[in-house]
Amino acid sequence: MYSDVTLFIDGAWTKAAGGRTIDVVNPASGEKIGTVAHADKSDLDRALEAAEKGFHVWRKVSAFDRSKVMRKAADILRERADAIARLLTMEQGKPLAEAKGETLAGADVIDWFAEEARRAYGRVIPARAEGVYQLVIKEPVGPVAAFTPWNFPINQVVRKLSAALAAGCSIIVKAPEETPASPAELIRAFADAGVPAGVINLVYGVPAEISEYLIPHPIIRKMSFTGSTAIGKQLAALAGAHMKRVTMELGGHAPAIVFDDADVAVASKVLAGAKFRNAGQVCVSPTRFLVQEKVYDQFVESFVQHAKTLKIGDGLDTGTQMGPLANTRRITAMETLIGDAQQKGARVKTGGNRIGNKGNFFEPTVITDVPLEARVMNEEPFGPLAVISPFKGMNDVVAEANRLPYGLASYAFTRSAKTANQIAASVEAGMMTINHLGLALPEVPFGGVRDSGYGSEGGSEAIEAYLNTKFVTQAGL
Ligand code: NAD
Repeated sequence: MYSDVTLFIDGAWTKAAGGRTIDVVNPASGEKIGTVAHADKSDLDRALEAAEKGFHVWRKVSAFDRSKVMRKAADILRERADAIARLLTMEQGKPLAEAKGETLAGADVIDWFAEEARRAYGRVIPARAEGVYQLVIKEPVGPVAAFTPWNFPINQVVRKLSAALAAGCSIIVKAPEETPASPAELIRAFADAGVPAGVINLVYGVPAEISEYLIPHPIIRKMSFTGSTAIGKQLAALAGAHMKRVTMELGGHAPAIVFDDADVAVASKVLAGAKFRNAGQVCVSPTRFLVQEKVYDQFVESFVQHAKTLKIGDGLDTGTQMGPLANTRRITAMETLIGDAQQKGARVKTGGNRIGNKGNFFEPTVITDVPLEARVMNEEPFGPLAVISPFKGMNDVVAEANRLPYGLASYAFTRSAKTANQIAASVEAGMMTINHLGLALPEVPFGGVRDSGYGSEGGSEAIEAYLNTKFVTQAGL
């Protein structure tokens, strides 16, 4: 079922020139399920040459026709969603329903950008003299290099790929080596829909070697990265040194604020669902739960109940609600953060341990009484770990929410419109969702501020990152 994954360069699926491969492991079993081709420099050179050629072809295709090809790719992805979801679960671990949801949501992202392609309007600015036309024209920025992580193997690629294609750019995607098959199937959908050779290229290998080669390369005009803040800062510095356009979607440590006038039952149910989705390996996952004193005990009890009832297992098994962590690094991270917090006085309300010794299973974990100096209060947990702390009033909760340098997602629950307005205005974050989960739809902005990055990967802002603005002023002769 899981076949070896190759590179895709200049319209052809191809092994790496040096014949090297990297093993792919199923996180539910710890067993090898396949391999992925490991590109070397000559593969990257071919991908660059193809991307340059592809750009000259694709930029001349009208927005109307680009849009049609993209819509076809979305339909192909929908038709293949069941098969692709299985590959995604086998390599990443998330429950099959989440994997299928991610695949279908990917098709919606493509459709959204297909529509945006046709609306990348310029404008005409009134001139100071008769017969002069002042035109603002949008042009594709050029070949793009995109680097994407393993937590949402399809979603992280499809946002960058679709925006680039909609704008008329070509792209080289460096997709995740640990979860390579599902993003390869996404790209196959585009190839089968008729995207010309060279427009999309797919490589895998050593991430640092590839980014260090592609970002400074003169053919590449823009880079987009999703991953940790530490790596994002390195890559943004490299891009800056070579004056490349940049989009950065980095880590977060999302405050989830529950005021004492909130519907606590709804808040705990919604937030537990958000917390343990994809085993917490989500950049917008709620991580610091801040609950007003009056409803603190009630919230903790209800949240712990939700955590306890989750069914953990192989994502392919019916009924599984939380799969294994995607790699063993996450197990080590959970053990380290929980151990550190306990040593500093934290109480484990539920979970806290690895499950079994086969596969990367970890208990949904809730900890309380965690001092601010504990690592988990400062570092993104990126796993099934919730930290719940009480707060007194608006001022101290805003101070805590804004204490860290991150600013990606934030959550709030309150029945008061005044409190809702106040908290939305006060938290430094790129996104806030109040009384429900409403983040990450294709048509709404998606991105962070401060150490969480810059640029938006959703909404009408997203295509802008792939367009240059050219001003043309023209007088009659
Ligand atoms: P990591 O920081 O080494 O890698 C994160 C991602 O960046 C991976 O996809 C990796 O391939 C890529 N990467 C690493 N170095 C790179 C380089 N020099 N050039 C290009 N790409 C590079 O660590 P990890 O163990 O894979 O993940 C750990 C942390 O990364 C998590 O705790 C989380 O904070 C962050 N992360 C964030 C997201 C997100 O959606 N924003 C996704 C995955 C990981």
